[in-house]
Amino acid sequence: MKLSAHFALRTLIHSDTARMRGIDNTPPLRLAKNLTLLARRLDAVQALLHHPLAISSGFRSPALNAEIGGSQTSGHMLGLAADFTCQKSGSPFQVCRRIAGSKIPFDQLIYEFGDRQDGGWIHISFARRARRRIMTVCLGHQRYRRGLRRCPKPAP
Ligand SMILES: [Zn+2]
Repeated sequence: MKLSAHFALRTLIHSDTARMRGIDNTPPLRLAKNLTLLARRLDAVQALLHHPLAISSGFRSPALNAEIGGSQTSGHMLGLAADFTCQKSGSPFQVCRRIAGSKIPFDQLIYEFGDRQDGGWIHISFARRARRRIMTVCLGHQRYRRGLRRCPKPAP
């Protein structure tokens, strides 16, 4: 089922972890509106970046969220957040900088784990009242810092 011009429900609920561990990741019907909002906002992000987004995590059921140790208040459980990369458009840091400089009404934009070997990813969440909070979290400092910051270089 298509939720927006470029995003299908299937894409926003897919999880490799859920599949591997047999966890049900079907969203409840009451989150349909949130998932549609997420899909539409991701359309805007994709239009800004001019390349398809590779979504690694969208909706997470409470069971899946617990399994991966996600935050208790995670926007993923509300169907309002997604983690992604967009390699053709640049590194996660560059993509975050691009989104931060746009008019996209995100609630939180988090540059996550840029010091991992794979270069990390972008977490973006939406809400009715968009706060446009920008944060960084790295393996090197296990806490969220305000603003978009470089992570320490990964160990060789
Ligand atoms: Zn996330």
